[in-house]
Amino acid sequence: MDTVTLHDKTFRPFISEDEIQSAIKQTALQIQKDYEGLCPVFMGVLTGSFLFTADLVREFKGDCEVSFMRVASYEGTETTGEVKEVLGIKENLEGRHVVIIEDIVDTGNTLEKLFEIVKKHNPASLKIATLLYKPKAYTKNIPIDYASMEVGNEFLVGYGLDYDGLGRNLKDIYILTE
Ligand code: 5GP
Ligand code: MG
Repeated sequence: MDTVTLHDKTFRPFISEDEIQSAIKQTALQIQKDYEGLCPVFMGVLTGSFLFTADLVREFKGDCEVSFMRVASYEGTETTGEVKEVLGIKENLEGRHVVIIEDIVDTGNTLEKLFEIVKKHNPASLKIATLLYKPKAYTKNIPIDYASMEVGNEFLVGYGLDYDGLGRNLKDIYILTE
């Protein structure tokens, strides 16, 4: 695999497609065990989690529903921590078992906001699944129930993650070079 250049920055290969897919399979199995017979609602967070959500639910055997919500909070390579709005919760989530599907949990600011908003819909249960988790950056108390992979504080792109709009279509995950 070669480096990729997006806008003004260069990224090198970090997590391969195979590693990503096998981590997702493990997470799907875990969720499947925990939600047997419960028909969970998977709420993907757009745009970053569109591929993760698609691959995760394809590995999940059993009844489930899939939906997406959108939130805006990140610009460039620095987290702003500012969640503007959450759009797209049209379903009745009351009494449902909801799993929020995130691409990456960094400081947890976005997640905290999402969690509060979804909670207001009175789900029977609410858990978090994230493809990537940055434990060293995380500042919140909300448990990260399912983290497919833990990473450091570096800036990553690919497999749904973008740098100013580019890189989401890469099959592997790349890391910013110095
Ligand atoms: P938090 O609110 O947890 O600090 O940041 C969460 C959001 O910031 C993620 O949903 C993602 O959009 C963005 N983010 C955090 N770390 C990275 C990263 O390494 N790469 C990219 N592309 N986005 C990130
Ligand atoms: Mg996101």
